[in-house]
Amino acid sequence: MVPMFVSGVTPGEGAAQALPTPTTRPFWDAATEGRLAVQQCGSCETHFFYPRIACPSCGSREVSWVDVSGRATLLSYVINHLPAPGFEAVGPHVIAIVQLEEGPTMMTNIIGSDAVPDQLVIDMPLQVAFEDRRGQVVPVFAPREGHAA
Ligand SMILES: [Zn+2]
Repeated sequence: MVPMFVSGVTPGEGAAQALPTPTTRPFWDAATEGRLAVQQCGSCETHFFYPRIACPSCGSREVSWVDVSGRATLLSYVINHLPAPGFEAVGPHVIAIVQLEEGPTMMTNIIGSDAVPDQLVIDMPLQVAFEDRRGQVVPVFAPREGHAA
């Protein structure tokens, strides 16, 4: 995976930021290094996200963090016109659920296309990118090269 650092939805002062916990910190540390990581079960090999201490498929606590491809498809989205605190200057932006190639779904933002339905086609191929939001690097997704709608 070639990390792509971008500026798309960067909020200003007052925007909420994630507070990593011991369970979620590996996700944020990986993002800071330009890697998308999720957990994988050592027993049944299921990839899963959000972070948990046990596999949601088989219950095993033999879980580890692995890098994934960063390839995903668009599962659902909403175009947000009503900014949350800190997002006033961002303008309309896309809040989406994407499905990673490895299986898990993830809530994120879509960047690299206008926030209009014509450019947001369900199942469109996406690629992860990373956005530094005032010191916290957040995975976002952009239309995959050569697959713009
Ligand atoms: Zn499992």
